[in-house]
Amino acid sequence: DPVILWFRQDLRLCDQPALIAAAGEGPVIPLYILDDETPGSWRIGGAQRWWLHHSLAALSASLEAKGSRLILRRGRAEEVLASVIEETGAARVHALRHYEPWWRAAETALGDRLHLHDGNHLTRIEDVRTGGGQPFRMYSSFWKALQNFLPPEEPYPAPETIAAPEQWPASDDPADWKLLPTAPDWSGGFDDDWTPGEACAQAKVADIADLLGEYDEARNLPATEGTTRLSPHLHFGEISARAVWHAADVDAGHTFLKELAWRDFTSGVVMALPDYADANGRAKYDRLRWRQGVEAKTDLCAWQTGHTGYPIVDAGMRQLWNTGWMHNRVRMITASFLVKHLLIDWRAGERWFWDCLVDADYGNNAVNWQWVAGTGVDANMFGRIMAPLGQSEKFDAGDYIRRWVPELADVGDAAIHDPDAAGCRPANYPAKVVGHREARERALAAARAI
Ligand code: FAD
Repeated sequence: DPVILWFRQDLRLCDQPALIAAAGEGPVIPLYILDDETPGSWRIGGAQRWWLHHSLAALSASLEAKGSRLILRRGRAEEVLASVIEETGAARVHALRHYEPWWRAAETALGDRLHLHDGNHLTRIEDVRTGGGQPFRMYSSFWKALQNFLPPEEPYPAPETIAAPEQWPASDDPADWKLLPTAPDWSGGFDDDWTPGEACAQAKVADIADLLGEYDEARNLPATEGTTRLSPHLHFGEISARAVWHAADVDAGHTFLKELAWRDFTSGVVMALPDYADANGRAKYDRLRWRQGVEAKTDLCAWQTGHTGYPIVDAGMRQLWNTGWMHNRVRMITASFLVKHLLIDWRAGERWFWDCLVDADYGNNAVNWQWVAGTGVDANMFGRIMAPLGQSEKFDAGDYIRRWVPELADVGDAAIHDPDAAGCRPANYPAKVVGHREARERALAAARAI
């Protein structure tokens, strides 16, 4: 009997333990299901639909080169799997383990026909626990405990060939899924910046050693290409975290490895707290009075479109809209600005990122938003307020701002971070939506009122 290989966020053939297991059992039916129903409001966002379209095309071509095919189906995963099993007489389903809460419905329904394999993380997340058997809430303790499971296993090569079943089940035409934007087509900047698929992920990883020598300093500078930009490839599983780890070939304490291990940490958090993307990690913040109403909506819109009058914030938000990605330092600045300076609920920002990021990831996005907001299980105080102008001066010499906010292209270095205060704000660039001191006092007052 054939077996089903259920692809999810693991669109690769190398280091794919579910593929190795399936190929060892008989003819394989590789299946991808577009499920917009089970995840509810966390269905795949706009930017990632663009990515998914291209990534599936790449995976499909790689499978064909090995004598196989990719079957595409749409609908509730649980129902689609049941029907493909019935149509093909498949004996089993092999898949890699993932931690987003919405997978559980289909996994439970499959019962013992489902064989889950680890391979999407550096280690088995369930193994990294406190002495009392609980998942870790603080990254630093998680990282320390993770050392007992490192280095991760060596990655597996892809199988030479993949046996095909005698008959293929029907497959959707990807064009019918309409994953690409049409009117308006906002994806021009995406095409310039990204090539989805396993081959590109591998090419980036092959060059990683050059970048990591400077990583410690360069990773904080948004104007330089100081980080790997592997995040969408890792989210879609076009490359495995352990393949990245081994390719990095750096000391065990290197900052890059600590960053890479954050993915494992956030998966552990959402495994323990499945509604972490919707609920404050610390319940006392349920009482925080976020701004609401028309003015708050206008401010949210200014933030989303990059018109807050804070150049570093606006540059980040425009980079996000145009390319589907934002530099980590600027993600922290823009997120903090929304939550503290505008006093808008972090969930509004998290949603916007979800729709706009090519690397949008349930665990990574929620944990980072709650960390910046100070509402999370990892204690970062709400009252700790990032100064956007100070951050801008410290980390950007102005090149990043000039690149993404062309209205400021002719503003000199001395004024670029705060043209408003310097008295040289061009007429086509907005005044600050709120002053720093006033915003800070408003946020602290809201925190005190809890
Ligand atoms: P590199 O520095 O090259 O790091 C390598 C890999 O390590 C990344 O690709 C990523 O998989 C992982 N990583 C690095 N930093 C983090 C981190 N802080 N948390 C989790 N994983 C990390 N990352 C996402 O992948 N998806 C998200 O939805 C997401 N949302 C975020 C929201 C906010 C408010 C903030 C502050 C950060 C968010 N991040 C998210 C984390 C981080 O900004 C990105 O992973 C990083 O910028 C990706 O660029 P890179 O691949 O060049 O990173």
